[in-house]
Amino acid sequence: MVTLEDRFSAILDRAEKTHSLSREDIATLLRAEGEQSQALFQKADDVRKRHLGNGVHLRAIIEFSNNCIKNCLYCGLRRDNRKLTRYRMTVDEIFSAAFNASREGFKTIVLQAGEDPYYKPEVIADLVRRMKSCSDVAVTLSLGDLTKDAYQKMRLAGADRYLLKFETSEPLLFGRLRPGTNLTGRLKQLSLLKELGYQVGSGNITGLPGQSLESVAEDILLLRELEVEMAGIGPFIPHQQTPLRNSLPGDLYLNLKVLAVTRLLLPLTHLPATTATAAVHPSGRRLALKAGANVVMPDLTPLPYRSYYDIYPGRAGIQVSNSYSWWNEELEQIERSIAGGYGHGAIHTSPDQQF
Ligand code: SAH
Ligand code: SF4
Repeated sequence: MVTLEDRFSAILDRAEKTHSLSREDIATLLRAEGEQSQALFQKADDVRKRHLGNGVHLRAIIEFSNNCIKNCLYCGLRRDNRKLTRYRMTVDEIFSAAFNASREGFKTIVLQAGEDPYYKPEVIADLVRRMKSCSDVAVTLSLGDLTKDAYQKMRLAGADRYLLKFETSEPLLFGRLRPGTNLTGRLKQLSLLKELGYQVGSGNITGLPGQSLESVAEDILLLRELEVEMAGIGPFIPHQQTPLRNSLPGDLYLNLKVLAVTRLLLPLTHLPATTATAAVHPSGRRLALKAGANVVMPDLTPLPYRSYYDIYPGRAGIQVSNSYSWWNEELEQIERSIAGGYGHGAIHTSPDQQF
């Protein structure tokens, strides 16, 4: 007789061997509890180790503006949040923060912001050019929806990667949570970025209000279909100054299972232990690193700006863990180490980009 345990193990083995599963099988893995969930985390950790080794890539993130023209229901930077102190870093401030991060040892600088038309694409392109000529770093941009022309200018200036999460693969939920936009448009942006030669990162939020387990399983399948080089997977955290203030937060345990299944299906994709996991649990990032993650993105935004980048609550409590040397020691304790090289995408990397 085939027991439920046998069925679970068979799905795990199939995932490890073929990196492919049906939506139903993914949902079964996401429902795992107790020993089964431990087996899932262990398998994801094995796959991570086999395909990507013990190195953890550190990406320094600089959040240079918290102004946003969009009004996403989940996000504290949304246009209608009048209680937030807004800031814009000057180009020289951004450059200095990036330069200092590269001197600390970071090999990737991520520039992120709300959607802020104040910064013209030419200005960002010049900044990227300057960063690439003064420091030996890869540059990731995460600036939301821009025009093809803007993406192209920044890519020609040397930007290597672009991070644009699809957040949810469910069209109705997407439309409700991101007013004035739709999932089809987001997916078009992602394929455009790929066409322009960016290493494309995307990702999703787990535990959004109104999201079913099957819908989360579908998110994982979409990540696989897109063959993303990087996937940011973080739990939903309700923010008091948003319409979702009274919604339940996402569950870290579910988020870790989503991460682990994603690792099984996308063995070469860079998976960060996201800041959101650290915001909901003091050991969130450690747990994520043991469930398939191989990237961390310390926040190198200068003070006082950092405290105003209030996407979701809980970020203030994780300020200690932002230096290169802190991570060096932290990783040693969990028998991991800082990875050498830029940590370029491992799936579609072009020959001019070495690891
Ligand atoms: N404006 C850009 C980048 C900044 S937002 C963009 O939207 O792409 C960065 C990420 O923060 C988003 O992709 C989203 O996944 C995450 N985020 C925003 N609000 C959140 C919340 N309340 N809980 C969890 N993640 C959130
Ligand atoms: Fe703006 Fe990004 Fe927040 Fe949406 S998620 S409101 S686009 S910063």
